[in-house]
Amino acid sequence: MHQPETSSDWKWQIANQISTRGQLEKFIVLTNAERAAFEADIPLSFAITPHYAALLEHPALRRTIIPTIHENCVGTGELADPLGEEDHRATPHLIHTYPDKVLFLATSFCSTYCRYCTRSRMVGKPTGTASAFEESFRYIEEHTEIRDVLFSGGDPLTMTDAVLDELLARIRSIPHIRMVRIGSKVPAVLPMRITDELCTILRQHRVWLSLHFIHAAELSFETQAACRKLSDHGIGMVSQTVLLKGINDDTQTLVDLFYGLLEINVKPYYLLQCDPVRGSAHFRTSVGKGVELIRSLHGNISGLAVPQYVIDAPGGGGKVPILGSEQLRWEGDEVIFINYEGKEYRYPDPEEGRHSRRADCAIKNPIQLIKKD
Ligand code: SF4
Repeated sequence: MHQPETSSDWKWQIANQISTRGQLEKFIVLTNAERAAFEADIPLSFAITPHYAALLEHPALRRTIIPTIHENCVGTGELADPLGEEDHRATPHLIHTYPDKVLFLATSFCSTYCRYCTRSRMVGKPTGTASAFEESFRYIEEHTEIRDVLFSGGDPLTMTDAVLDELLARIRSIPHIRMVRIGSKVPAVLPMRITDELCTILRQHRVWLSLHFIHAAELSFETQAACRKLSDHGIGMVSQTVLLKGINDDTQTLVDLFYGLLEINVKPYYLLQCDPVRGSAHFRTSVGKGVELIRSLHGNISGLAVPQYVIDAPGGGGKVPILGSEQLRWEGDEVIFINYEGKEYRYPDPEEGRHSRRADCAIKNPIQLIKKD
């Protein structure tokens, strides 16, 4: 692998996103499965910042970013919208699932696209502009039970300072809003975006960050500096880690990540069972494996380093913390559990050998390295 050209200017990183097979092959040798994906009709966009591309020597990170033909294999129970968000869409930019919380979809753009993204149905596709948000602000004003607004997307921290400042000022002008969060992977994939100016805006509007990390290999020098800068500005940070098969589904990998996050003042918050989004079977572990992993952490490492293991209940039942298998019941291919309202939900458990409905999912050519010219 050659190292791609990079820069400490975040706008340069976005302007120089790697988004085609040709650009990627200038510094990385693709496998047959990866090459085939670029020729197939894969639903999720491909793009990566040069900063993150330089980390792809690590096989775990490579698997989460470079598409493979497996994404066209739709497993049992997998859906384009696994959390039923569209059924809870209150306005074009708002999802209202929990009584006191809304998800505000501020942008569909990400600087880097994760292959297991729950919102692969919408990220990387055109969306409305910030001027179209007023209907959503009015909805929040009218629903005084809403206290907590989570800006997500896409990645809101890819928006400019001026747009973010206006968005956050508008939401903070609503008296019943007590909590404002932004969900972002920017400190991992575009750490140079964390400027003093951005930190000042986030501090001024009392924003918490919910950051997405999946592996300690993401904690580059630049990422550590970005998180320390956010911490020095008084920004509260928690992390969300998606549990991914063959990428972070072993105790030592999780321990390295969670301690690494604590060292840069990010509290590990959620270890998320991977949502059953279409084409995700090759990323999803069984729920039994998730239970085994979280149990291996409790009591053995600092309690502060242990996140909650949660399943986001398919169909919109919300996040359900799983402490042990006593909470679970298996029926065929499904795991059954109860959410905070006492309602029963089912998660399609990806057991080996019975996850695929399509016979044509197997890659005809074995994965092998192709020599670069
Ligand atoms: S950064 Fe978040 S929204 Fe963007 S592709 Fe990754 S998981 Fe999806």
